[in-house]
Amino acid sequence: MAPVPAGDPRAKPEPGSVIQVELSESRKLSPEHRTQVRTGDVVIGDENFTVIAGPCAVESLDQAMTIARAVETAGAKVFRASLYKHRTSPRSFRGLREEGLDILDAIRAETGLLIDTEVLSSEQIELLSDRADFLRVGCRSMRNYELLSELGRTRKPVILKRSMSATLEELLLAAEYILAGGNERVVLCERGIRTFETYTRNTLDILAVPALKELSHLPVIVDPSHGTGIRDKVAPMARASIAAGADGLIVEVHHEPDRALSDGAQSLYPEQYAELVGQIRTIAEVIGRRV
Ligand code: PEP
Ligand code: MN
Repeated sequence: MAPVPAGDPRAKPEPGSVIQVELSESRKLSPEHRTQVRTGDVVIGDENFTVIAGPCAVESLDQAMTIARAVETAGAKVFRASLYKHRTSPRSFRGLREEGLDILDAIRAETGLLIDTEVLSSEQIELLSDRADFLRVGCRSMRNYELLSELGRTRKPVILKRSMSATLEELLLAAEYILAGGNERVVLCERGIRTFETYTRNTLDILAVPALKELSHLPVIVDPSHGTGIRDKVAPMARASIAAGADGLIVEVHHEPDRALSDGAQSLYPEQYAELVGQIRTIAEVIGRRV
């Protein structure tokens, strides 16, 4: 049988290559090209190391503002907090939804933090784009290709989380949906995958960091909160992430984690978060990154 020519979709990837032909278009920009995602005074990528922190969800103005002030004081540049939540059970707290929009505005006005929030559907893009600086695609939406295509039509920075069952290739192809529309402002996020191990909520795939940076020009951040599900394991995995070459972290923080409406068990207390930022600065100095 004649060999399948290179570039043919039936061609097998090169030995040792993790990605297939389709991906190569955006990677062909130039082998050295590295995308930096900039918005306001935040740059994700290059020698910068960006810390995004905040609660899993906005629960009230008081709760969100208390946490926002704490993370801002400790050195966050971007506040994470979801208004719309995908939950495994429909009976769990699914977010304040539209009711929380003004809270995001208040946090930005009072603290100057940029805002990152999750977008679940194409219909929410416009509404959330006015209130947030980053739109986050959660792991459950990584395969919502219509949503990804719509985000590709915007120029909004997107944080794209890896599905708990996605290979790196699938994550990169999901990113390609956004890039294909002309939106280059994509940040990849490793947030743990599902394996046979049950000790942690997910298995944080630290190897994904150097692998994705080799395979793609996009910046890569790590979510050690969902990646472990265990408060005490968040800081060690965060330290490992920066050491492995990540461009940033997204970390859950709550001042009263025992009362949190979602993900309290993996949320750092503000003091723990401040201590972690100190450790990150120390590591950053050694490896030539700027926090
Ligand atoms: C989140 O970041 O709030 C979240 C729900 O994460 P994931 O989609 O990774 O589960
Ligand atoms: Mn969460």
